[in-house]
Amino acid sequence: MARLICRLGSALLILSVFLTGCAPKPTPHEQRFVAMDTYMHFTVYGDSSAAVQAQEEVQQLDQLLSVTDESSEVYAVNHRAAQTCDLSPELTALLEQALILARQTQGAFDPTVYPVVRAWGFTTERYQVPEQEELDRLLPLVDHTAPLLNENSLALPPDMQLDFGGIAKGWAGDRAAQLLRGKGVTSAILRLGGNIHTIGTKPDGSLWNIGIDDPDSDDALGTVAVSDLAVVTSGSYQRFFTSNGQTYHHIIDPATGRPAASGLTSVTVVGKYGARCDALSTALFVMGLEDAARFWREHRDFEAVFISEDGSVSVTAGLEDSFTLSPSQNRKLEVLT
Ligand code: AMP
Ligand code: MG
Repeated sequence: MARLICRLGSALLILSVFLTGCAPKPTPHEQRFVAMDTYMHFTVYGDSSAAVQAQEEVQQLDQLLSVTDESSEVYAVNHRAAQTCDLSPELTALLEQALILARQTQGAFDPTVYPVVRAWGFTTERYQVPEQEELDRLLPLVDHTAPLLNENSLALPPDMQLDFGGIAKGWAGDRAAQLLRGKGVTSAILRLGGNIHTIGTKPDGSLWNIGIDDPDSDDALGTVAVSDLAVVTSGSYQRFFTSNGQTYHHIIDPATGRPAASGLTSVTVVGKYGARCDALSTALFVMGLEDAARFWREHRDFEAVFISEDGSVSVTAGLEDSFTLSPSQNRKLEVLT
């Protein structure tokens, strides 16, 4: 009898799926939390425990990578007593990746930028404009060729300090996405501040439309339609302070020790790996449009949207069909080839 009821139930379910033309909609599980100094919001379809674990994964990385939390591993490295320290496997892997990206971008992205970032007060929110003498004293400490990593043993010159703020959210997004995929999740969107990671498509099979901020207003500049990709934005509008009528933002040009004045207000990088997109969005911002376009032509493993100070928008050729400018936007749009 029980078996008959069960069979009837299955038959009714199949019939209802057939009649409505679609499978039951998977339930969205939302996780909202603050980590890495920013708001995070994960929407994971189907598996609520996986969504919780993804949040925990990001929070653990935050505890490892924070430059201000005195119990973090990065804090311990930055306040080391000896010249050499042993790193955890996680930090070893991240530093390796960060140093590769620093070399590729010729130091436009540089994880040793912390002494300068700290002098501007960006990580502590005690903002100030450092004197040129102070920057001159700190700039020799910014040098991505100086850290020597031998397996998990790191040798750093005295006073050199690390900052993963330009790559950590992308790295964490990759880790969370990896965990979710490993648990069989096929549809999720992870928002880590300006970093978005998508897993698969929306449950109905359509692409995720990711909004790109307009740095000059509260409207969206446009959207990019993606699946299974990271979409990462670095912009001078994301964190800044004003002093004596001048605005200073948080993306530092390691060559000058000052907020990058490259003519760009925002760079969005679209690609497979969040950590790479994150470091590149910071680096391409520092480089400016011309050098960033050259970098893209040499690598072509990512796509990008650039917004310039004059309001014009440039997108790389691979985004020509997936990027849509908002109807309210009256901007010049150029496709880079
Ligand atoms: P993002 O928002 O990803 O562009 O990263 C900016 C954050 O990374 C800043 O708040 C700093 O902590 C750090 N940072 C600033 N400039 C650089 C740079 N040129 N290279 C690496 N990290 C940077
Ligand atoms: Mg970045």
